[in-house]
Amino acid sequence: MVGLLTMALTGCSTAEPPVGSSTDRATADPSVSSTPTYSPPGMSSPASPSAEPEPEPELDHSSPASIHVLVNKRRPLNPADYAPEDLSVPDVPPSRTGLELRQEAAGAAEDLFSAAAAEGVDLNLLSAYRSYGYQQGTYGGWVQKYGRAEADRISARPGFSEHQTGLAMDVGAADGACALQQCFGDTPEGAWVAEHAAEHGWIVRYPEGAEDTTGYSPEPWHLRYLGTREAADVVHSGGVLETAWGFEAAPGY
Ligand SMILES: [Zn+2]
Repeated sequence: MVGLLTMALTGCSTAEPPVGSSTDRATADPSVSSTPTYSPPGMSSPASPSAEPEPEPELDHSSPASIHVLVNKRRPLNPADYAPEDLSVPDVPPSRTGLELRQEAAGAAEDLFSAAAAEGVDLNLLSAYRSYGYQQGTYGGWVQKYGRAEADRISARPGFSEHQTGLAMDVGAADGACALQQCFGDTPEGAWVAEHAAEHGWIVRYPEGAEDTTGYSPEPWHLRYLGTREAADVVHSGGVLETAWGFEAAPGY
């Protein structure tokens, strides 16, 4: 039902022109990139007692290789053609071959799919890492077909897609129901993902009611890897990454 092209373009793209890095946290940890010094799936950490609204003061939201990089229409990857160095193919049911994620995210994807299957929820991986060049082709195709304005509503400009980080994936029901459509959220698979993704380090990146902040209409199928601790923190903070991390909204480029 959903062609490759469509699949590649649907939302899930995060683009943005000039950086508005007004809220960047300067304190970047040198070795944050590949080492998520996170504790076990302690989903229910007691809410911080008093002040200090800052979630994770040491997270690196700017380095493209950081597990906690923030990419949206106001924050393109830098360099724009960044490519992860530790891509691997997760052992999960793919709809097509060759889908890759960064190593840590791949392991977390396997955890998520296994946990779902154990509860009788069968998921498929529909899309994962997409390179700058790939996004260039897909976005360019939409621009040619519909014009830039319309293309921006359904596809991320190259360099702005969260998929380019290797930390995002699109999942669907194994039976193909509502693949990459809003109604996925109403399927048992979509409901399971919404409820349990964070337990395995993922969040639904573009939740309902947050379009003006994320820049994308709801995508119940698009998951972003953050690690279990941060995913839990973000969920507890309302589930919108920009807001949880104290960044400005990114409704457009
Ligand atoms: Zn996506």
